[in-house]
Amino acid sequence: ETVIDQIAAGEVVERPASVVKELVENALDAGATRIDIVTAGGGKSLMRITDDGTGIAVGDLPLAVRRHCTSKLLDDLHAIETLGFRGEALPSIGSVAKLSLRSRQAGASDAHEILVHAGQVDGPRPAALSRGTVVEVRDLFHAVPARLKFLKSEKAEAAAITDVIRRIAIAFPDVRFSLAGSDRTETVFEAASPIRRIGAVVGQDFADNSLAIDAAREDVRIEGFAGLPSFSRGNAQFQYIYVNGRPVKDRLLLSALRGAYADVMARDRHPIAVLFITIDPRAVDINVHPAKADVRFRDPGLVRGLIVGAIRETLARAGL
Ligand code: ADP
Ligand code: MG
Repeated sequence: ETVIDQIAAGEVVERPASVVKELVENALDAGATRIDIVTAGGGKSLMRITDDGTGIAVGDLPLAVRRHCTSKLLDDLHAIETLGFRGEALPSIGSVAKLSLRSRQAGASDAHEILVHAGQVDGPRPAALSRGTVVEVRDLFHAVPARLKFLKSEKAEAAAITDVIRRIAIAFPDVRFSLAGSDRTETVFEAASPIRRIGAVVGQDFADNSLAIDAAREDVRIEGFAGLPSFSRGNAQFQYIYVNGRPVKDRLLLSALRGAYADVMARDRHPIAVLFITIDPRAVDINVHPAKADVRFRDPGLVRGLIVGAIRETLARAGL
């Protein structure tokens, strides 16, 4: 079981940022309105995610860390509304790190904690917590030196965690996020309107001066903001793309965005954009890979054409 978990972990847990992504998605699935993230050593020594969500019943704690145990509905894979559904994240993390889960279900008289170390489960036992869930991950890949070796510097891993939180924060503006720890300066995103959250994450300049995009073709809609060509960047880091509310880093979508600006931007420059794509769930597979960053469209040409067309028209209307 532990070996299988470690193999599964290779899929889900690539680096500290992928752990933070899974844990924050769990907090969001639990209806949290406030999520606090603390990291140390670029997440390699510590990642702690605290939420005010529904919590986990003491009887469910052992299930939460068991493989393929999910409390989420699987009736229709396409219509999944929760971010997680595979029941893979916690057992995978527990197989390659020291994992602790402390939780108090809403209405429960007390909290409990369960520990997983190298796949060995210890607990649950009573613990102190007023509400919600605290998940702590220590010493990621400590017992898997081959994996540890492939991680980047603490600074780079800390930055990757920040990027994950920024992408999620745009998709969930009414949730308050804080990101702190010995490896960073504190960042807080207060609950805000969608546009204010975009301003907080991407920059007020961008929120104030970008072009609004809103177009639809067949069952696909694209909304959001496209940066002025003069706001271009040396890298593609400030491109935020969402499919049905989930952050993605899909090659087709990024290349479509690039193509839309091809006539107004030097080849080595990258536009800034925040784009929300809404599509019939049956016309897209967002779950190609457990890390869920890649997307497969039934009609990639339609999506590409819509993105390129919508942005080019908007740029042209603005005289650019
Ligand atoms: P999945 O999210 O795919 O269901 P995970 O391994 O990420 O699988 O989590 C396993 C289960 O543990 C979840 O289905 C959920 O019931 C529970 N869980 C995990 N994190 C939290 C949390 N922060 N709050 C409430 N429940 C949680
Ligand atoms: Mg999950």
